[in-house]
Amino acid sequence: MMSPRTVSALQSWSSVARWTLFGPLACVIVALTYNAVSFSDLGPEALQRAMASAIILPLLMAIPLFFFLSMRIRSLAITNRRLGLVARTDSLTSCLNRGAFTARVETQLTTDEGPRTGALLIIDADNFKTINDLYGHDAGDEALTILARSIRSVLSAGDLIGRMGGEEFGVFLPGVDQNAAEQMAERVRRAVQLAQFSPRGDAYMLSVSIGGAVFAQSTNFTELFRIADQRLYGAKRSGRNQAAIVHTLDQPQVDIRKSA
Ligand code: GH3
Ligand code: MG
Ligand code: MG
Repeated sequence: MMSPRTVSALQSWSSVARWTLFGPLACVIVALTYNAVSFSDLGPEALQRAMASAIILPLLMAIPLFFFLSMRIRSLAITNRRLGLVARTDSLTSCLNRGAFTARVETQLTTDEGPRTGALLIIDADNFKTINDLYGHDAGDEALTILARSIRSVLSAGDLIGRMGGEEFGVFLPGVDQNAAEQMAERVRRAVQLAQFSPRGDAYMLSVSIGGAVFAQSTNFTELFRIADQRLYGAKRSGRNQAAIVHTLDQPQVDIRKSA
């Protein structure tokens, strides 16, 4: 199976080919029609020459012109796609940034084809400030990339990961129930704990606290985030390096319009 990158490259080249072929062809048709109408009173030999020029001239001019223009459009489209990717991605960890993550989860929660069940996990690094204080900001940055890699390493295809800001990550698990969400949170917690991080040669054990909200009915990102964040706060208070996952059905409903 072809990668999305290869498919997109093939599509862009086929667009160049289409423009370079059909653009000049359209010019030839216009020129032929014009000459056929305008020079119909000429003799057959002159008319033949007029028609030949209506084919040759547009082809000579339009082929390079359409090729050049379609190449420019192709390179603009590629730049546009790259800009879109940069706008959606957190540059340090290569996760989705907060805006893109929120939008992708919200889309899944609101479309008819979206999952009927699932979970949102909010994952926050424990005592992260200490790493910066002890080893400097660069070591902190390295720890963040290790955290992102560890989380990603246990996720399945279709799961989403985003950096919510600072040392906090969001993971969306479509299709899971409470049991599977708890298992995944535990796998994330363990993967982080086992990750190798050795600032200045010291073996340093990273850990995360995780709050999670599982849903099985229509909901929205704000509601899931509120519940998961509350659980995260609970996990921190209970000593960190642990996960607390709850089902939204077991939570008191909050009228978002009133709390806004
Ligand atoms: P807690 O276990 O309660 O979450 O403690 P904490 O130290 O992780 O939380 P706190 O909110 O006190 O500090 C978060 C720290 O994360 C402070 C901030 O400097 C650091 N931080 C946030 N973003 C970045 C970043 O991009 N790079 C680095 N190196 N540090 C960051
Ligand atoms: Mg923290
Ligand atoms: Mg935090």
